[in-house]
Amino acid sequence: MTVQAGLPRVTVFSLGGTIASTNDSGGANAGVTPRLGARQLVDSVPQLRETAELETVAFRQTSSGDLTLRDLVSLAAEITKRFEAGVAGVVVTQGTDTIEETSFALDLLVCGPRPVVVTGAMRNPTLAGPDGPANLLAAVQVAASPQATGLGTLVVFNDEIHAARFVRKTHTSSPATFHSPTAGPIGWMAEGRPRIAFRASELQGKPGAIDAEIPAVALLKCAIGDDSRLVEQVAALGYSGLVVEAFGGGHVPARVVPALERLAGRLPVVLASRTGGGELLRETYGFPGSERDLRSRGLIPAGFLDGLKARVLLSLLLAAGAGPNAVRVAFEQVDASVTAHAVA
Ligand code: ASP
Repeated sequence: MTVQAGLPRVTVFSLGGTIASTNDSGGANAGVTPRLGARQLVDSVPQLRETAELETVAFRQTSSGDLTLRDLVSLAAEITKRFEAGVAGVVVTQGTDTIEETSFALDLLVCGPRPVVVTGAMRNPTLAGPDGPANLLAAVQVAASPQATGLGTLVVFNDEIHAARFVRKTHTSSPATFHSPTAGPIGWMAEGRPRIAFRASELQGKPGAIDAEIPAVALLKCAIGDDSRLVEQVAALGYSGLVVEAFGGGHVPARVVPALERLAGRLPVVLASRTGGGELLRETYGFPGSERDLRSRGLIPAGFLDGLKARVLLSLLLAAGAGPNAVRVAFEQVDASVTAHAVA
């Protein structure tokens, strides 16, 4: 590849997913699997040559549901090495199924102002109108842009720019699957230029260095008529923490409360909402099982984080050796990361 002098240096890490998925025969019945690495992805988008000086790393080749937080810790270490070597930005291509978790994990694990941009595709390269090339080009354009400095980890998809802390996958097949229901996208692409409408404040409450195993954290979604049988098994099954996706603003059936309180006396139990938008209430309701009641019994509010992101944060905090008080403080700090923002 011929490289134009003076272009920003960007490293592209590929992890697999639909953007990299093809089949041998090209036949419709074969089923696609991740086969393309970062070099092949980059070579298929000629416009990238005018955008950045690119290094490619085939880091994993998997469906994103098989990635682990341990993979993300290793990837964050590789990204940090690239930044120390002077790379301007990093792009990660991967499956979309877990982008809302992986991007937030990278946001928590990578320090410094340089951008990490995660992208993928909903239409694989064997289909008409695959979205991978356009998403990859936009992701590199963002990663190479000084405007992306200090924004934390971003998800660039379908010409929208999302902050990792807010983004969710909302559709099984639409190329417009990524949304940030609570805050909206922080920007968009226009004729190849990133346009940043607002800058979220720097993410606080990051876990710090992780050398140890990553403890298992359970995620339970409340449903109508639930009892406490699953909650009662959490500690016995060896989980080190629990995230509860509660009803609405943070409510559970009254009959589940004693088991949650008992568990919160032994392990960190984080309270998130199952709604997928908005933040947890703090001061509104007083009935047994309400957000006020559960806080008074030791549950930790997830703030604006949804259950998936709260689970990533709790897992990484526990892996970094955080005790109960440090976990509580970190959740408060992450939540405070939205209190100040300025128009770019
Ligand atoms: N199964 C794919 C994955 O690895 C789906 C995708 O990339 O959209 O997440």
